[in-house]
Amino acid sequence: MRAVFSWRASSRLLTLHVVRRRKRRTVNDQQAMQIAITAADRARLVSRPNPWVGAVIVTQSGEIFEGSTSRVGGPHAEIVAIRAAEKLTVGATIYTTLEPCDHTGRTGPCTLAIIDAGITRCVVGIVDPDEKVSGRGISRLREAGVTVETGVLADQITAQLAPYIHHRKTKRPFVVLKMATTLDGRTAAADGTSMWITGETARRRVQVLRAQSDAILVGAGTVRADDPQLTVRDIEGDSPRRIVLGEISNEARVNPCTQWTGSLVDLLDELGKQDVLQLLVEGGPTVAASFHREGLINQYVLHLAPAFTGGNDGLSVFEGAGIATMADLWRGRIVSTQQLGDDIEIIIEPNLKAPNQKRIGTNK
Ligand SMILES: [Zn+2]
Repeated sequence: MRAVFSWRASSRLLTLHVVRRRKRRTVNDQQAMQIAITAADRARLVSRPNPWVGAVIVTQSGEIFEGSTSRVGGPHAEIVAIRAAEKLTVGATIYTTLEPCDHTGRTGPCTLAIIDAGITRCVVGIVDPDEKVSGRGISRLREAGVTVETGVLADQITAQLAPYIHHRKTKRPFVVLKMATTLDGRTAAADGTSMWITGETARRRVQVLRAQSDAILVGAGTVRADDPQLTVRDIEGDSPRRIVLGEISNEARVNPCTQWTGSLVDLLDELGKQDVLQLLVEGGPTVAASFHREGLINQYVLHLAPAFTGGNDGLSVFEGAGIATMADLWRGRIVSTQQLGDDIEIIIEPNLKAPNQKRIGTNK
C-alpha cells in the first residue's frame, strides 16, 4: 500500500464544507447514492467552477459518512468523506455521484486518496464527461484492485449535473431562460415596465436561480426600462457576473458588467472558455427571442402570475414574428411544475424527439 499522503496531516487546517456522521444503519446502493445526491445539492452554490458532487462512505460495520465538494481549491467530496471516516475507510464502500478524478488539478487526485484509504469498492453514479477524466478514474481504481460499479441513479445525477455535463460536452454554458409572465402571456405593459409581475415567493426563487448561475444576462432595453441590479439578495450565494447585450450608460445599476455586441454563439463560446457552466437569461423579450430562435436555450423557467394585462399591446415572452403556421410549432417537455406563492413555475426543456426541433437547432 502507498505511503500516507500529506493531505492527511494538513486536513485539519482546511475548512470542510460538509461532514456528517450518521448512525449505523443498513443501506443498499440506491439509498447510499441518494444520500450522496442530497449532499451534492448542498455544494451547488459553492463548488463553481467545479461540479457539485456528493460522496458517501459506508464502512464495514455500517457507519455512514458523507461529504460534498468544497469551495474551489478545497477538497473534493471524496476527500471530505474520507477525512470524516478516518481509519474506518479500510474495507469500506464509497459512493460518488460523479466518477472520481484522476488528475492533479487544484487538488490531488481522488482516486489515489480512495486507494490509500483502503477502500475496496467504489460505486459511481455517472462517468465524468470531462476529457481529463472520462473513464480514467475508474480504470485507475480497478487497476489498484478496487471493485467499481457505475450507473446507480444515473438519470437523477445526469439531471442534477446537467449544466456541468453540457459545458464539458459542448464547451458552452447551459442556458436557462427565466421569464415572468401574466396568464395572457405578457411580460411587460404597453409602456415597457415589467417589474413585479410575480409575487415575493417567485422573486425569491429567482434569487436561487441567480445564485446557481455563473453569469446572468439581460438586454440593454431591460436595463433602460427597469434599471435592475441583477445581484443575489436575501439568500446565501454569490452574485453571478453580469452581462448586458448591447450598450448601456455608465450610471446603470447593473455596472460593473460586460457589454456584448457580437453574436450569441460567440458569446457562449467565450463564456464557456471562462468556465461559465450556467448562464441565466432574464430577458427582455427581444433577447429571449434571439436565444430561442437560434436554439440556444437548454431550459425554460416560466413564472406564471394569475394576472392579465387584458390586451395585446404589452410585450410577449418573445418579441418579433413567431411561426407562420402550426406545423412549425415549437414543443418542449415539462421537467417540473410547482406553485410559488400565488404564482406557478413551469420548467420545460426542448423536446429533442419532436419533429420540428431539428428546425431550431439542438445546441450542438
Ligand atoms: Zn477529485
